Amino acid sequence: MTDGLIDLARADTVSGEDAERREALADSLERFIENKARLSAEHPLRYLFWESTLRCNLACRHCGSDCLRDNSTRDRELAPEAIKHQLADIARRYDPRSITFAIIGGEPLIRTDIDEVGAFAAGLGYSWGVTTNAMLLDARRLASLKASGLSTIAVSLDGLEEEHDALRQHKGAFRKVSEVIVRLVADPFYHAFDVICCVSSLNIDSLPAFVDYLADLGVPQVRFTPVFSRGRAGRKSGLMLSGEQYRQLLTFIALSRQRRDDIIVTLSEEGYWGPTWECRIRDGMHYCGSGTVIASILHDGGITGCPSVSRRFTEGSVRDKDFLELWDAGFGRFRQDRRATAPDSCQVCDHWDLCEGGGFHLFDPEDPAIVNCGLRKIGEMGECHG
Ligand code: SF4
Ligand code: SF4
Repeated sequence: MTDGLIDLARADTVSGEDAERREALADSLERFIENKARLSAEHPLRYLFWESTLRCNLACRHCGSDCLRDNSTRDRELAPEAIKHQLADIARRYDPRSITFAIIGGEPLIRTDIDEVGAFAAGLGYSWGVTTNAMLLDARRLASLKASGLSTIAVSLDGLEEEHDALRQHKGAFRKVSEVIVRLVADPFYHAFDVICCVSSLNIDSLPAFVDYLADLGVPQVRFTPVFSRGRAGRKSGLMLSGEQYRQLLTFIALSRQRRDDIIVTLSEEGYWGPTWECRIRDGMHYCGSGTVIASILHDGGITGCPSVSRRFTEGSVRDKDFLELWDAGFGRFRQDRRATAPDSCQVCDHWDLCEGGGFHLFDPEDPAIVNCGLRKIGEMGECHG
């Protein structure tokens, strides 16, 4: 149990309403922690990502996965039948209506057979979606996805024209994506649509104008994801946010959520920001479900938690064993051994039970001394021993 934080919530013996509020907060934190422990033990699958390809039609400066514009990884990609076999197997164990099947890349729309896999998933009862840079999402492709039962769609747009085109290293990309968004808003056949924006030093200052732009287009929701150091977006890319810029982002999101009713603004799971910020920047507390409720089948058949985690956390391959066998027998590093897997300074941190090291994608298996701690970045670690 997080002695420090829950006791803090209960401390300060004030009377009346304040005391009741503190008690209620402490109770809800305890329930939250218990619930996480239950999910870790039961690992009920809720999100299954399929990284259909590593190929991409762009070479974005901030890409965390080092996708490739060439075909060198094509031979390693799973065939539709292989992923369908896993989907059918999983549907015999879990209720597919409780699982979101998300097809990602690289750029997933490079593969025309994802529509066939999506239709198969929908037929089994999964809700399925894609995350795309939208460059290939013309009216014809949209019609095909629609006919295949697509239910969620996330489009990447990383700021206003100058910033988006600079980050994507492609002039005209912003206009193209904007046209797609207009089409999607006019024809809402899906159940959920949002824009994902990667926040870097390049676009942090224009986020207010960017959100105005999206709201004017009729976008219902935007999710902000701070750039993190992996792939091309390494520490020397000049794109990383400073501590001050992280604070700027948190403040912007908190105020937008408080003041706007025309668009929902959230921060992605992306780590833990402490009690001051958590309730103001998203709907619930930070929770990284990587390896407990979230799994990925990678382009080459590898299995891991969330697709953003280091490839060194791969648990095996569907080329050798079925997904469910690996899901049940593996993933100790994501579940019971999570703390031992986390960076060194998380081992003695008072925030552990709420934070659990932030996001698993921030763990560096090659160097446990590296900590990507949100609280440290914004200088709010306080008296914690971590
Ligand atoms: S040291 Fe680790 S557990 Fe503590 S707040 Fe930072 S990331 Fe979370
Ligand atoms: S690893 Fe990171 S991106 Fe993936 S679920 Fe956890 S917090 Fe979210």
